[in-house]
Amino acid sequence: MAQIQRLIVAPTQIRGDHLALTADQHHYLCDILRLRSGDRFLALDGQGQAWQAVLNSGPGVESSRSPCPHTATLLEPVTLTPEPLLPLTLMAALPKGNGFDEVVRQATELGVTRILPVLSDRTLLRPSAQKLERWRRIALEATEQSERAIAPTILDPCPFPVAVEQWRAESPCPMAAICVARREAIHLLNWLPGMTNSLLEAGVWVAVGPEGGWTEAEVAQAIAAGFDPVSLGRPILRAVTATIAAVCLVSAVYQAQRPGPH
Ligand code: SAH
Repeated sequence: MAQIQRLIVAPTQIRGDHLALTADQHHYLCDILRLRSGDRFLALDGQGQAWQAVLNSGPGVESSRSPCPHTATLLEPVTLTPEPLLPLTLMAALPKGNGFDEVVRQATELGVTRILPVLSDRTLLRPSAQKLERWRRIALEATEQSERAIAPTILDPCPFPVAVEQWRAESPCPMAAICVARREAIHLLNWLPGMTNSLLEAGVWVAVGPEGGWTEAEVAQAIAAGFDPVSLGRPILRAVTATIAAVCLVSAVYQAQRPGPH
């Protein structure tokens, strides 16, 4: 059976069974995917709800070759196979430039539930509101791409000490690790199995530093708060690579420990 195309839409775009498409969504469906009026796709709200949808005819044009209209009709709800959510909050220091786009895209593909962008001592810039919007859009695109039903939450960026407090305020408080290069620490892969209960019940937090690394003060503060220092191995990884490596490890251990289909 042909793969049905997916589109994540905002709740505000839905009125009854009427779905208003944005210009970008219209471009994606009609110019990139080449759908035409009468063609079906799967509309998702990114929170686990999905509908069969059909593109409507353009105004006054009935032919199936008519230009793509800007609306669709929701036909019926679709029950999605519940996906195991990787209960991982990725606390990632913001790198320079557009590096965070890749962090958001790839961590979403790998199934992360929450991403907390952190302003660390060696983070240069406070991101603009547009950047945050952009990361949220990228997370939705990656959710569609990797056929996840639920998009990760991109939390508001905050300074490192506030992120640590946010972790401490979680209830029940999840286990947390801070990735530290160039120091003796247990490997993340060996730390995770000990976290089985936390992983399954409260989730885990993993913190990855910026290009310049965490400062000694930040590492000390995290450890004092209850984070465990962990290693990702001998090589010194770029911040983006380290993030992906950490998420892969958590995802692999979590999937291997959960019974049933993944
Ligand atoms: N420039 C620093 C390294 C920063 S790497 C230096 O030369 O020491 C960016 C971040 O990736 C680090 O803060 C750490 O969180 C993570 N990281 C990279 N390689 C790692 C490793 N081998 N083990 C643990 N964390 C690592």
